[in-house]
Amino acid sequence: MTTKLKQKKDIALVAHDHRKNDLIEWCILNKNILKNHSLYATGTTGTLLENELKLPIKKFLSGPLGGDFQIGSSIVDLEIDMLFFFWDPLESLAHDPDVKALLRLATLYNIPMACNQSSADFFISSELMDKEYERNFAVIERYKKNRTKQVKEGI
Ligand code: PGA
Repeated sequence: MTTKLKQKKDIALVAHDHRKNDLIEWCILNKNILKNHSLYATGTTGTLLENELKLPIKKFLSGPLGGDFQIGSSIVDLEIDMLFFFWDPLESLAHDPDVKALLRLATLYNIPMACNQSSADFFISSELMDKEYERNFAVIERYKKNRTKQVKEGI
């Protein structure tokens, strides 16, 4: 099974507090590319980005209130194509389990996910940003196949 990442992508943007300025600066720098896509963000990140970029951004709840979970859920529903997540590697947060869940789901559903600025630079300059891309679900397929077999044989 595969799904198409469309030419116009649904992009989620999230930054922890000490990384918010970095993400804002990066988005300003790349506004000309980002404006061609649909943007989503956790609550506070989204409000700050909207003020700076003057682009429409669909805002989820603030991260600590469940926003990371909502983005994860949208990834599962195939509504988010890409994630730029400037998370803070130097601080532990109350919602670390939610962050871990989001990173896990983004990996499981095989969406492009940039967690630092150089990865973000590579992604945004990729020719695939403006093309369709066939995303596969190899890990999920394997799990489903094994699960079906286990159910048949009795777990
Ligand atoms: P925020 O959430 O954009 O609402 O601050 C981000 C996060 O901490 O996950």
